[in-house]
Order: sequence, then C-alpha cells, then structure tokens
Amino acid sequence: MGDPCVCYDCSARYDSIPIRCGCGEPLWFESPDDQRDLNWQDLSEGSRLQRYGDLLPVVPESGIASGVGGTPLVRSETLGSELGADVYIKLESHNPTGAYKDRGSAIALTYYLKQDVERVGTVSYGNMAISTAAHAADNDLECLILVPDDIQSLRLELIDQFDPTIIQVEGYYGDLYYRTVELSDVSTVQFINSDDPARIAGYKTCLFEICQQLQPTEPDAIVLPNSSGGFASGIWKGIKDLQSVGLLESAPRLYLVETAAVDPTTEAFESGAKTVKQYPEADITENVAHSIGNPDPPSGNRALTAVRETGGRVLSVSNDEILSATESFAVDCGFCVEPAAAAPLAAARKLRSEGEFDDLKNLVLVPTGTGFKELGTGSASVNVKKTVLQNLEEYVRSTITD
Ligand SMILES: *Cc1c(COP(=O)(O)O)cnc(C)c1O
Ligand SMILES: [Zn+2]
Repeated sequence: MGDPCVCYDCSARYDSIPIRCGCGEPLWFESPDDQRDLNWQDLSEGSRLQRYGDLLPVVPESGIASGVGGTPLVRSETLGSELGADVYIKLESHNPTGAYKDRGSAIALTYYLKQDVERVGTVSYGNMAISTAAHAADNDLECLILVPDDIQSLRLELIDQFDPTIIQVEGYYGDLYYRTVELSDVSTVQFINSDDPARIAGYKTCLFEICQQLQPTEPDAIVLPNSSGGFASGIWKGIKDLQSVGLLESAPRLYLVETAAVDPTTEAFESGAKTVKQYPEADITENVAHSIGNPDPPSGNRALTAVRETGGRVLSVSNDEILSATESFAVDCGFCVEPAAAAPLAAARKLRSEGEFDDLKNLVLVPTGTGFKELGTGSASVNVKKTVLQNLEEYVRSTITD
C-alpha cells in the first residue's frame, strides 16, 4: 500500500514506505511527472493546502488539517533597509498550533488515516508533539508522544491539553528517534517523525506558497532554522517539484541556521563532509532556541545536500544573536516569534555583513513558530511604570512630555 517513495541520494525506489532507504537515508514521495503542464492558475483553486492537490499525495478536506497553511508573506521595510534587499517574512506562526509543523501533520495524518492506522506517535521537544497531538485529537486517533527528560513544563502542558499519552524518556535525545525506527517494527504505533515522507510532502507547501505569493518574481534566497533537517528537506522538495512542472526557473539559495549550542550540520558543511556526524552530548551547551538543536539530525545529510545544490550555506548563531533577533522581530516588526524562529534574522545579519547578499534582490526569512508558547516562563524582563488612579492624568502628562 502507499505511494512510491524514492531516495534523494541513491535513487532507490520503494512501492511502500520502509521508513528509511536501505542506504540509510530518509525517503520522500516521487516528484510529479515532469510532463505535467501546470500553471499558477491551476494551483489557485481551493483554499490553503487544497489548492496544491495536484502535487500532494492527499488533500485535507475538513477539520484542523483544512485550516493549515495559507500563511501570510509580508514585506518588511525596516528589515529591508537593514539587510539591503526586499525582505519578506513568511509567518508560519499563523498555523493552527503556531508552527510550520502543522503542514506536515495535516498531510501525514490525512495520509495515514487513509491507510487505516489507529495509533500515531512522534518524538519531540515541543512543536512537533503539540501539532501531532492536536491533529490526532481531531481525527480521534490514539497518540503517543515521546519527549526528552529536560523538556520545559510549559511545553508539557501545551502538549497535554490534546490528551495524548506522553512518555518522558531519560537518555540521549540524539538516539531517541532511531529507537522509534526500531519500535515501528514491533508496535502498532505509526511514528510520524520529522523525516516521514508524508510530513515532507506537507512541508513543501510552504515553498509553494512563497513562490506563488511572490509571483511574478521568484525568491532569490530563503533563510530557515534547521534542526532535524526535515523542514529544509521539504523546502528543497518543493523547489524540485516546482522545477519539474516548469513553475520555477531557478532554485533559491537555501540558508540553514543552527544554534551554536548544537550545530552538527554546520560542522559538516564547513568541513566539506558529505555526512553529518552525531554531535557529542558533552559538547552541547546551553541553548535558548528550544525548538532547534537536534544532535543527530535524521535528515541532516539531505539538508546538507539541499544547501550545496542550491548554492546556499549552513551557519550557526549564538544565544545572544538569537535573542537580539527575537527582540527585533517584536520591536521592529511587531511579530512575536520564538527564539528558534528568529534565528534566520540573526543569520541574515551575519550573511549580509559578509557580503553574501550583495548579488540578490529579495530574501525570504521564515520565522517557523509563534512566541506565544514561550511566554509564561518568567524569563522575560518586563519594563513597566506604575501609578495610582487619582494621579494618572498628571503621571501620563509628565511621562509623555519628559
Ligand atoms: C521543528 C522546528 C524547527 C526545526 O525544524 P526541523 O525540521 O527539525 O529542521 C525550527 N523552528 C521551529 C519553530 C520548530 O518547531
Ligand atoms: Zn538510498
């Protein structure tokens, strides 16, 4: 059962999904037939993900899945003048659970429901779990969430509201994903992890939207945060699909941003290696960007290939650079994004100062998730003034005119 999958690396083809290719790499669904003659008009009928039905294995028709995607692409004058290009921001925080993960959950849950699975599961630090649990709840599927030991309690609360079974697993997070690959053989849980072909199919719709929203221009560069390499794989697959149906002339350069606390893909990129090595647990330092920092990315090699083929780069940014970018998104643009989602701006600043953007006209930053979920941790320093009611008028006058 299922749609044909192929390996981006060794081109092996499978008629059903064996989780990973025999060569060890992750799989994705085959690209559409390149004879197909689609135009943007064909991809404008229907709302959100439905409009891309010709390029997807399934189309979500109701419930939370039908509310996914269709996120705004907004131009920022402020960031544009700072970065010396037309800067567009793809607001993935507008998805139902506040992160791009919903694109993957919408397609994957719709897909596996058609295959009659009864239980789904995932491994996550937060957003993947929240999204998978929400989509499972809507479809009345049992859901198993494996989280690491050091997950923040606020995130546990956010996951728990959708009533999945949550198992907190002590041990090295980098190994947890590979354990679920083994578990898939012995349990009835369909794990829908970051590299699942159906999830990747969902992620590519973000690239479709960016290209459609920028018409008649094409994106020159896209900057996104990177952890497991799943999102990057989806964006790259989107590029390949659009090129194969003749809707994209040149591939945008992909820039992937990691946290300096855990940056295995950056290390591989900089050393010219073909594969990403597991990041040693002892080398991991404190990380403010909780949604990125996978020490053993399941799609790491694929993400690396995407960057090399599109002429981009992988780079990492420090906690301070990330926090200052998070603040800029709020203070300069009015957007509340989580630190991981602000990493692209931190990286864009670096890349611009190194002359990397000198030859391009436009640039798309993808803040992948909302900052609303990060609030309530008590870590923000809040600047407020206080007065009493009878002094209010005088107080406002003196405060404003001072
Ligand atoms: C999951 C996540 C990422 C990283 O995506 P990967 O597919 O793991 O590379 C980035 N930002 C946010 C907000 C996320 O939730
Ligand atoms: Zn292979």
